[in-house]
Amino acid sequence: MKEITEIKVEKTSTRVKSTMCDLCEVVFDGEDWGAWSSHYSHEIKSTSVKMETGNGGRSGGHIRHVSFDICPECFSKKLVPTLKAMGATPTVKVSDW
Ligand SMILES: [Zn+2]
Repeated sequence: MKEITEIKVEKTSTRVKSTMCDLCEVVFDGEDWGAWSSHYSHEIKSTSVKMETGNGGRSGGHIRHVSFDICPECFSKKLVPTLKAMGATPTVKVSDW
């Protein structure tokens, strides 16, 4: 028979301490561009500009990640107009519940 006892294990993990916009260099704590949350509600401020390419299988793989950290204001006021000027049309979805 084995007797089980609890032991305390220290573990070190990482989190995003702050994020700086690659365009205007504004810095926010964490990774959500200053979004807040409470017990009852939360604000979403998330942007994503990235490319992932590569391949993989069970024995291994290779994936290249390229990304930019662009704050919501630069996303709306700089990136979107620039891409529209280049002929791109953004996909816009609205979620209500
Ligand atoms: Zn910015």
